[in-house]
Order: sequence, then structure tokens, then C-alpha cells
Amino acid sequence: MQKRVLVGKTLSELKQLAQELKMPAFAGKQIAEWLYEKRVTDFSAMTNISKQNRERLAEECSVGVEPPVHQVVSEDGTEKYLFSLSDGYTVETVYIPDRERATLCVSSQVGCKMNCLFCMTGKQGFQRNLTPAEIMNQILAVPHSQELTNIVFMGMGEPTDNLDSVLTVIEILTSAWGMAWSPKRITLSTVGIRKGVKRFLDESKCHLAVSLHAPDGRRAKYMPAEKAFPISEMIAMLREYDFSHQRRLSFEYIMLRGVNDSIEDAQKLSELLKGLDCRVNLIRYHAIPGISLQSSSDATIEAFRNELNNRGVVATIRASRGEDVSAACGMLASQKGK
Ligand code: SF4
Repeated sequence: MQKRVLVGKTLSELKQLAQELKMPAFAGKQIAEWLYEKRVTDFSAMTNISKQNRERLAEECSVGVEPPVHQVVSEDGTEKYLFSLSDGYTVETVYIPDRERATLCVSSQVGCKMNCLFCMTGKQGFQRNLTPAEIMNQILAVPHSQELTNIVFMGMGEPTDNLDSVLTVIEILTSAWGMAWSPKRITLSTVGIRKGVKRFLDESKCHLAVSLHAPDGRRAKYMPAEKAFPISEMIAMLREYDFSHQRRLSFEYIMLRGVNDSIEDAQKLSELLKGLDCRVNLIRYHAIPGISLQSSSDATIEAFRNELNNRGVVATIRASRGEDVSAACGMLASQKGK
């Protein structure tokens, strides 16, 4: 008999499960506390639940926190983990310590449908969505789990293409009965699928990062999603939301040599974002096998940033992290995975 996995279940699901196992309804809340607040992985440690009910839980359920199967550590402290799933697929998770911040970049899908030209995950095609349990496991099972300050849905997959699971995880992370995190500690990164982004903005208070990478129709060559979901329409929709206080809007822009890095491109980008409360993160390109794109030079990236800043767009250059451990999205899973 397949045991039911507890991690990834919401409070109402845990209450339902307690009832099905003929336990008192309040046991659902107790289980949530043990899983998400006290982070216990052994039923025998759930001491405010009767011995009989703990034994019943152990018979029918598993906690579902499984350690990564592979780990690489970068010289700069970035750590990359590979998690094996029950069907043999693998996903990766990246831990990025940076002074007082400790960010975990989690995956939401095995593979991805979006096929961005510069991304190794896109080359793998799409296999399946991750369950809330598989996403929560990445958060709870990494060695530095207790030290995390931020979570970004920026790993393998397009999170708005698996939004039910992602929103369930956000509910667990931000609820008082769960991990009680502020939504300001969570960012979702997307290619900009209109329906999914709208639902994410309406149903959560977390930050949003939109992958932009080119200020005009050239974007379609590097991000095929542009054809169905033009960035101009996404930006028009984002103008309907308030990003001035609680919630941050950022745009990710990979700097590609001779492709999207001219001063004219910076000018077009500033026009596109005019009047929007946002920031632009300029990112050096991590080379991936078989793709001839190259990163812009540091001088070009700085000139691009300065042009944006001079035009009133807040732009920063993101430090490259973990290049020596294949930190680009999907590289490790491609090397080691199913
Ligand atoms: S960059 Fe993100 S959305 Fe694009 S293919 Fe890779 S995982 Fe998918």
C-alpha cells in the first residue's frame, strides 16, 4: 500500500486526513505544527498525539522529507542539490548565501514547456508538474533549511504553469499554522503567462519577477512564450496593480553580447517600463552546451545599467553565483538525472 505523504498538505487537508484515520479533528492542527513549525520527521516525536494515533499515522502515512541525493558546493558558498523523485526523475534546488540573506531557489516542474533558448531545463522538454509535497521537500530537506531567509520560485519549470501546487506551498509557507513567513520573503519568477500571473497577484502577496530579456519582438527568438504572451500585454496588465509598497515587481534581463545589450536597447527598455514601479536585474549569461550565446562584457553591462538609471529605471547588476557548480538552471539535473 502506498503511504500518504504528509508534507505539502494544508491545514484543511490534514484535518480531513485526521478524520479519515478516526483521529480527533484537532489532530490535524497538531500534525501541521509538528511538520512545519517543529519540523519533526519521526512520528514517535509527535508527543502530544496519543501513542495509538501515532502508530496509526505511521502505518498509513509517511512524513515525506527525503534528503537530496547529490550535492555540489561552489567556491563562493552556493550549494546545489539534486532531489530524486519517486518516479526516478530529478530536480535541482540551489542554496545561495549572501551576507545576511540565505535564499533557496526551488523547482516547480520536471523540465519545462517554455523552451527558452538560453536555458538547459528548456532543452529537456516538459515531463510533469511537481506536487506540493515535492516542492515542500526541497525547502525542508536542504541542509540549511532552518537558516533560509528567502525563497524564489526560479528553479526548473515555469511556476505559473503549476500554479495550484505553487499556491499551496505559498499557503503553507505564509500561514500562521504553517511556517508563518512573510510573503515578502517569497518571489515567483515567470516568463509572463497572463492568466497565471493575474491569479498569482490576486491570490498571494508575494513578489513577482518577470523574465524580459529583450525590449521588443526579438524576445520571441529567445523566449518562444512571447508569441502567445507578448511582454507588452503583460506590462499593460501589471500597470493595473500597485507595486509601490508591500509587493515588489522586478524584471530579469540576461545580458547577451550583441543581442540585447546596446544603449538603444536600454532606451527601448526604459520606454517599455516607463511609469511602472519596478526594478531591473541585469544578469550575466551562464553558457550552456550547444548554444553559441555569450555574456555581455562587464563594461557593456555597466553602461546598460547606467543608461537605465539615468532614464529613471532602477537597475542593478546581479552577481554571478555558483558558476563553477553548473548553477545555470537545469545543468545538474541534465548531467545526473533520469
Ligand atoms: S528559463 Fe524558466 S521558463 Fe524558460 S525554459 Fe528555463 S525553466 Fe522554463
